[in-house]
Amino acid sequence: MREQGIASLPRNYELVYRFLNSSNPAFVREFAALGRRPTQLQLDAIGMKFLPHQHPVQAVEHSLECIFEEMRKIIRMFKQDRSRLEKYSNLLGESSARISTKGTLSLDVLDDLNRVLSSATADTMEKSKAIIQQIVERAKELARLKAELEEYKRLSGIDPVTRLSNRRAFDKRLAAIYEDLQAAVSQALLIADIDHFKKFNDTYGHQVGDRVLSATAAVMTKALGSETFLARTGGEEFAVILDNTSVEEARDTAERLRVAIESTPLKDQNDGLDRGRITVSLGVCMAADASGPENLYKRADAMLYEAKKSGRNQVKTYTPKMKRIMGLLKR
Ligand code: GH3
Ligand code: MG
Ligand code: MG
Repeated sequence: MREQGIASLPRNYELVYRFLNSSNPAFVREFAALGRRPTQLQLDAIGMKFLPHQHPVQAVEHSLECIFEEMRKIIRMFKQDRSRLEKYSNLLGESSARISTKGTLSLDVLDDLNRVLSSATADTMEKSKAIIQQIVERAKELARLKAELEEYKRLSGIDPVTRLSNRRAFDKRLAAIYEDLQAAVSQALLIADIDHFKKFNDTYGHQVGDRVLSATAAVMTKALGSETFLARTGGEEFAVILDNTSVEEARDTAERLRVAIESTPLKDQNDGLDRGRITVSLGVCMAADASGPENLYKRADAMLYEAKKSGRNQVKTYTPKMKRIMGLLKR
């Protein structure tokens, strides 16, 4: 796998194993077509298509079921051990009763007791050792499942097409803005939406469209730096949350993004063909100019709508004096 540039993740091992043993020709064909050094994105797409349990939700459910099964096994082992210990305790009780009723102890009786008790003790110790060994094994399995769940948890916050944060991660991040009101004062939300993307898809096809979404994500990440929160919040919509910013800086950043996207020629890496360029419209709103996460999103979105209405490929920024003009006062 290392030679093929495939990361050593549990789900990739499964994919490669299935590829080597699969009788599904479509799967084998698509996997083979990836060639050397496939991206994780391509691998995950095939995983989700042909191995439905690799879908994060199903995978989490599957892992949870495995965890419950492991716990059931542990409980069963403890139950078995308890009943064996009870038997052992009964044996000790019986032996002690035999000693006290006999009154005197002959060497024969002692010998007899010694044999029975040594054998029962050895047996109990051996079984306990086996149980401890099994519990260690179960614990290892639980640790593995935990790591797997962590991986899926991470994945579930990530959009598989662009590898950016997804809508879910964005909603959390947006809500977090207002948890620290002091920091919220200097935070801004930018929403970007690709212009006429439907037409682009109609012209070049959905698959090329998907690659353009990835390329757009890459251009935005490069322009913003990897520290800035950037998410794909919907079909061809992206959102940026800026920290420590003034409204002027937020507007400048949005403008920088707009120019970066507009000036990036789209050359398809798959076939080398030129796909022209795309543009985006952007809406900007400072967190301080909104009453909460939903209101902030609404205002940035209203600005995006304004940018579209005014001819697209431009930035519109919310300012409080717009409240009345735009009838947003009650929103
Ligand atoms: P506007 O400038 O008003 O935003 O026009 P638009 O065509 O971009 O907007 P509209 O909302 O009418 O259509 C959005 C299109 O985005 C529809 C669909 O073809 C495309 N789209 C949405 N999600 C995806 C996706 O995941 N992959 C691809 N390839 N296209 C998508
Ligand atoms: Mg659009
Ligand atoms: Mg849209």
